[in-house]
Amino acid sequence: MDTLIVGAGFAGAVTARELAEAGERVLVIDKRPHIGGNAFDRLDADGVLVHQYGPHIFHTNSERVFAYLSRFTGWRPYEHRVLAVPDAATGAAYPLPINRTTLNRLYGLDLDEAGAAAFLERVREPKDPIRTSEDVVLNSVGRALCDAFFRGYTKKQWGLDLSELAGGVAARIPTRTNDDDRYFTDRFQAMPDQGYTKLFERLLDHPNIQVRTGIAYQQIVATADCRRTVFTGPIDEYFGHRYGALPYRSLRFEHAHLPGVAQHQPVGTVNYPNDHAYTRITEFKHLTGQQHAGTSIVREIPCAMGPGSDPYYPIPNPANEALFKRYEALAETESDVVFIGRLAQYRYYNMDQVVAAALATSRQLIHSGEAVAA
Ligand code: FAD
Ligand code: UDP
Repeated sequence: MDTLIVGAGFAGAVTARELAEAGERVLVIDKRPHIGGNAFDRLDADGVLVHQYGPHIFHTNSERVFAYLSRFTGWRPYEHRVLAVPDAATGAAYPLPINRTTLNRLYGLDLDEAGAAAFLERVREPKDPIRTSEDVVLNSVGRALCDAFFRGYTKKQWGLDLSELAGGVAARIPTRTNDDDRYFTDRFQAMPDQGYTKLFERLLDHPNIQVRTGIAYQQIVATADCRRTVFTGPIDEYFGHRYGALPYRSLRFEHAHLPGVAQHQPVGTVNYPNDHAYTRITEFKHLTGQQHAGTSIVREIPCAMGPGSDPYYPIPNPANEALFKRYEALAETESDVVFIGRLAQYRYYNMDQVVAAALATSRQLIHSGEAVAA
């Protein structure tokens, strides 16, 4: 083998495909018993297509990324919508991102677009500079809306206050004064028409690619005979946590099938900013368009990392970024190892950003003559 790729998620699979097409022989391993990384989907016991590691909705503004993935999948157009229930006692649900409808329903108003803009201008607390996620939210919608929709959710999701997280986290959620209730506004929004796992099967289906699941890097490193390693797991783990553990946030996924229930909730995801241990419930049939007499849902329960738990989210704040930089400096001294992906680059990446990063890095390797021709 020329290259060992650790991790069969988007980072590993896209890099494997690119290097294989350039003539390298590639071995992809994953410690999990399947390919796809966190985007892995499967039929549950009742035959509903579910995402094992939480809802994955594909969206991108990159024509290049969309065109690339289109080589390996057809698409089902899908625009994600989210409702938030700030108070489970009333059960009242409001569109998120906050938009004109959210304001009118929450406050019993009848604002037009200009009225919604004027309302937000009155309640917002201008911040300069904007550093933390608290700054971002207060600056755009003020304290009452922050407490209703953001503070409790964020505390649950991260175990941290909004003020302890970089601005980029809350900035993922825009504020609108019109009635657009889509979660994303990207140019391309669609789901792989036969699911993510099928997409990965096609990505990895190349004569130069060998895939072995259920094998951890640690089990193979001593005997692997490869000239280069592409590592897509946690960067601090690769270096034996030399500078201490990089913080990641974990999640527990509570899957359930509801027999005979055609539809559990009106939209793909309902967020619970304040009540309940879980942050959100996703009903997969909205995402996939599958017809089935019953329905399957997942609740996400955030938790700290513990023995055996998976690292799902890097936690963006200045202290963690500084620790990551120390690992990144170590990584630069490893001449035959490349680090790509959400865990290896410690970036709160969406799928399309991981694909873009993997394409850029593998093309760099190929064009710099570093690709090892078989
Ligand atoms: P991963 O998918 O995590 O793959 C890394 C792989 O490496 C894993 O399979 C792991 O088992 C393996 N590995 C790690 N260490 C080792 C080791 N030592 N030995 C062997 N194998 C190892 N993005 C979107 O664009 N839209 C969404 O709607 C969306 N929703 C999300 C919801 C949740 C709950 C989560 C957690 C993420 C979501 N994402 C979403 C982000 C998306 O999952 C990631 O951007 C993408 O999957 C990252 O790909 P990756 O290859 O970098 O990492
Ligand atoms: N967020 C929030 N309330 C919500 C939804 C999001 O406070 O109802 C904040 C929270 O900090 C969350 C971040 O915005 O972690 C990003 O939300 P997103 O839905 O993008 O998170 P992901 O899908 O990546 O878990």
